[in-house]
Amino acid sequence: MIAHLLIFFCTLVAMEGVGTLAHKYIMHGPGWWLHRSHHEAHLGALEANDLYLLALALAAIGLMVMGDAVAQCIGAGAAAYGLIYVVFHDGLVHRHWPVRPSPRHPYLLRLYQAHLMHHAIKDRRNSVSFGFLYAPSQATLNAHVQASDEPTSASGPHTQLD
Ligand SMILES: [Zn+2]
Ligand SMILES: [Zn+2]
Repeated sequence: MIAHLLIFFCTLVAMEGVGTLAHKYIMHGPGWWLHRSHHEAHLGALEANDLYLLALALAAIGLMVMGDAVAQCIGAGAAAYGLIYVVFHDGLVHRHWPVRPSPRHPYLLRLYQAHLMHHAIKDRRNSVSFGFLYAPSQATLNAHVQASDEPTSASGPHTQLD
């Protein structure tokens, strides 16, 4: 039982690494045609980028339905990551929900500001902060932007903190 819980939590943590790498090298690389919808003005509740979430959900459900006990724990960890992504990224950071809580906790604020910066940088290949639940400090991000001399725009399609 403890081993299964460990597998669940390790998968949950590992998924942030997988998500960060996928965001940087797939979604901002060959998969940009789907992810681009997320970097443009948001009109409806859904966007083409949500297909990545659907793929994660199908993989997680597949593991939970067809896998053995270990595979089910991995599937549950991946599903939990997807749910946290929906709450943190779609809900708190982008406020795609009818209820729009403002991030006030220092961790949430850091996540929010770092992700705003991710969206403010127009060069998709040279953006910053690709994580969904982990964000580098503002100083690290500023240093990266200054080093690469990227033009940023604070007036992106996403709202500023109220
Ligand atoms: Zn992105
Ligand atoms: Zn985003």
